[in-house]
Amino acid sequence: LEARTGKRFGSETNPLLLSVRSGGPISMPGMMETVLNLGMSRDTARGLARVTGDRRFAYDAYRRLLQMYGSVVAGIDGARFELAIEQLKERRRIELDSQLTASDFIELAGWFEEIFREETGAEFPADSHEQLTSAVRAVFASWDAPRARVYRHEYRISDELGTAVNVMQMVFGNRDARSATGVCFSRSPATGEPGLFGEFLVDAQGEDVVAGIRTPEPIDRMHGLFPLAYEQLERAVGELERHYRDVQDVEFTIEHDRLFLLQTRGAKRTAAAALRAAVSFVDEGVIEDHEAVRRIEPAAIEQLLHPAIDPAIPVDVAAIGLAASPGAACGAVVFDADDVAAAAELKDVILVRPETTADDIHGLIGAVGVLTARGGMTSHAAVVARGMGKPCIAGCAALHVDIENRTAELGGHVLVEGDVITVDGTTGRVVLGAVPLVEPKPNDDFELVLQWADEARALGVRANADTPDDARRARQNGAEGIGLCRTEHMFMAEDRLPVVRQMILASTDMERSAALARLLPMQQRDFEEIFEAMSGLPVTVRLLDPPLHEFLPPLEEIEDESTRERVASLHEANPMLGTRGCRLGLQWPGIYEMQVRAIVRAARTVEARTGVAPEIEIMHPLVAFEQELVRLRELTARTVAEEGGISYLCGTMIELPRAALRAGDLARHADFFSFGTNDLTQTTLGFSRDDAQGRFLTYYLEHGVLPEDPFATLDVEGVGELVRVAVERGRAANPDLHVGVCGEHGGDPASIAFCHEVGLDYVSCSPFRVPVARLAAAQAALADVNETAYVPAGG
Ligand code: PEP
Ligand code: MG
Repeated sequence: LEARTGKRFGSETNPLLLSVRSGGPISMPGMMETVLNLGMSRDTARGLARVTGDRRFAYDAYRRLLQMYGSVVAGIDGARFELAIEQLKERRRIELDSQLTASDFIELAGWFEEIFREETGAEFPADSHEQLTSAVRAVFASWDAPRARVYRHEYRISDELGTAVNVMQMVFGNRDARSATGVCFSRSPATGEPGLFGEFLVDAQGEDVVAGIRTPEPIDRMHGLFPLAYEQLERAVGELERHYRDVQDVEFTIEHDRLFLLQTRGAKRTAAAALRAAVSFVDEGVIEDHEAVRRIEPAAIEQLLHPAIDPAIPVDVAAIGLAASPGAACGAVVFDADDVAAAAELKDVILVRPETTADDIHGLIGAVGVLTARGGMTSHAAVVARGMGKPCIAGCAALHVDIENRTAELGGHVLVEGDVITVDGTTGRVVLGAVPLVEPKPNDDFELVLQWADEARALGVRANADTPDDARRARQNGAEGIGLCRTEHMFMAEDRLPVVRQMILASTDMERSAALARLLPMQQRDFEEIFEAMSGLPVTVRLLDPPLHEFLPPLEEIEDESTRERVASLHEANPMLGTRGCRLGLQWPGIYEMQVRAIVRAARTVEARTGVAPEIEIMHPLVAFEQELVRLRELTARTVAEEGGISYLCGTMIELPRAALRAGDLARHADFFSFGTNDLTQTTLGFSRDDAQGRFLTYYLEHGVLPEDPFATLDVEGVGELVRVAVERGRAANPDLHVGVCGEHGGDPASIAFCHEVGLDYVSCSPFRVPVARLAAAQAALADVNETAYVPAGG
C-alpha cells in the first residue's frame, strides 16, 4: 500500500491511514467490528493537517480513531465519547456535528485521550504498528461477539466458519464537499427491478450511512452532484454483477471526485426481489432456470405469503416513513430490545427505536415488525428486517422516541409501551391500533420459479390439513394431496366435545354406541368437504390418536362423584406413552369403526355428487407390532365392506423405534408408511415433545450440546438412521410400498434434503409451508446433479 500510494504508515509528514475490516465467507451486516483511521497520533494529525491544509479534517479523523479504537479495541463504553461530544455541542450552542470546528476537534481529541487513559490506565498507543496489530486482533475477536453469535444462530451459519480480516487503505468521504460515501445495490433489494438503487451522504464517513445516524439521499441525486463518479459507479457495479452473476451490494467512497469501491457482497434482498432478479437473470441469459431455483432461499419464499393491510379498509395513517421491508404487522409497542422477548411471550410486539444498531439484533428477532425514526433503506433495521422477512419502516421523521421515559410521539399522538400499532413495511404507513390484514397473492415470478422447482423435484409435496379451509389453502399453494388429516381436531370442536365426552365416559355399550352414532354424521360432513376440496388428489386420514384424557375436563372441575371416579381411572402418568393411537383403537374398536364408516359414507356421497371418487388412504397411528396392524387392517376392511365398499389404501404411521426396526413385518400389511417424525423424535431421543423446549433443550441449544432443535430439523444421525432402515426394510418386504413424512420436519428445508436423499416419495407439511417444501425439494434434487454449492446471501 505504501508503494502504491507513495505515503508511509505512521509518517508524520505524509501518513498512510488504514482501515481493518472483517471478511467472513457469508456476510453478517454490522455484526462484526471495523476500525478506521489507523496510523494516526497527535503527531500524524499535525502532519495530516499540514499536507491536506485542513486542520478540521485531520483532527476529526484523529478523534474518530480515538473513539473507535477506544470502544472496539479497548472496550470502553462508546457512550462516554458520545457524551463528551454532546457536552461540547451544548457548551458551543450548536446542534450538528458538522458545525464543530477544527479547534473543537482538537479539544475533543484531548478529552478522548483522557477518557482512554482513565478507562484503561494506559496512554493511547501512538505507535501505528501497535494500533494495527491490536485492531486486527479485535476484529478477529468480534467473530465471537454475542450479537454475531445470535445472528449466526438465527441464520444457521456455523460458528466454526471463522473470518478473514482485510487491511485496506483509508479514503475519505468526509474530506470536503467534493467527497461522499454511500451504499448501492445493482438492483433494488426491495423489488429486484434493475438499475442502481442506493443512498449516499456528502462529506461523511461510511459508518454514518450504515449506522443510520443521518438520513442519506437517494443515489439518483448523485448523478447531478458527481456526474463522473456516478458514471464510473454504474459501470463498475454492472461489471461486478456480471462477474458474480448475482445482485451486488457495494460500499463506495468518493474522495475529491475520485471513486473508490470499498467492498462488494451478494445483496440481502426481499423474497420478491430475489425472485424478480433470478427470473431476470434467466431472461438475460446470465443463469439457467435450475440456477434460479437454487438461488432462492426456501425460507424467503414465506415472505411472499406475508400479510398486508386490507386495501378495502380505510385506515387513518398516523405517519409515513420509508418502506424498508415489506409486509404488515400489528403489535404492542416496545422501546427496548431487551424487553422484547418477555413481552413477545404474551403478544405480538413491534420494536420502536430512534434507530437500531447491531446490539438490537435479539429485539429484531423477537418482534413481528420494526419502526425507526432515523436511518434509510440501508440502515441496520432495514437490512436485518428484510433478511428476516419482517415488516420494517425506517426514517419515520414524524416519530420522536424518548428512550429514557419510554414514550414516543408519533404524528402528534403520544405512544406508551404496550400501545398497539400497525406497521406496513410495503408502503411505509404507520397506523394507530390494529388493522385487519389480508394474505397476499403470490406474483408471476413466484409461480414461475415454483414451476421450475416442480419440474426439478423428485419428492412429492402434500399438506397436513384437518379442515376444508386448510385443504383449499394447501391446494392453492400447490399441495399434491393431504399427507395427514388429524381427525382428533374434529373431535375438539365446541359442538362435538360434549358428545365425545359422553362416548368416553359411557358406562354401558349402548350408551357408547349412541354417542358414536351421533358423532358419525358430523365426521362424515367434515370428510365430505375435505374430499371435495382435494378432488382428484390423495387424502390420508389418520384415525384417532391422542390419549383420551385430552378430551376430558380437569378433575377439579367435575362435581359429579361417579364422573370424577371414571375420569380419575383414565388418568395416566405418561399419557403420551399410554393408551393412545392404535392401542386405543384396538381396545375401543367402536371409535375406529365409526371413523371408517364416516370416511366410506363421505367418499360415496362425494363420488355420487361430483362423479369423482376420492383417493382415500386410511392410516393407523402409533403402531409398533405386526399384530396391531393385522388386526387394525382387518377392522378397516370389514367395516369398509359393511358400508358397501370403496377403493382405498390402508397404511401405518412409523412413529416408534420398534416400528422402524421391524418395518419389514409391518410392510407386509401396509400399502404405505408415513413417518410421524414428531413422535419418532420424541421416542428415539427420549425427549418429551411438549416439555423439552424452555427447559433442558433450550439449555442444550444455547450451550451447543446440540446444534439444532431436533423437533424442527430432523436428527439425521439418529432418527434419520431409523428412517433409512425402515425405508429399506419396508421396501424389501413390499416393493410397492409408498413412503412419506408427515411430522413437522416435512416443511423444514434441511430435513427435506434428507427425505430426498433416502428416497421417500413425498413430504407433508403445513399448508403455508407447501411452497417452501416445493422449492426445498427441488434444491435437494438439483444438489444431486450439481455439487457446486451456491452460497446464498445468508438471509
Ligand atoms: C408425528 O408424530 O410426527 C405426527 C405427525 O403425528 P402427531 O404430531 O399428530 O403426533
Ligand atoms: Mg404422532
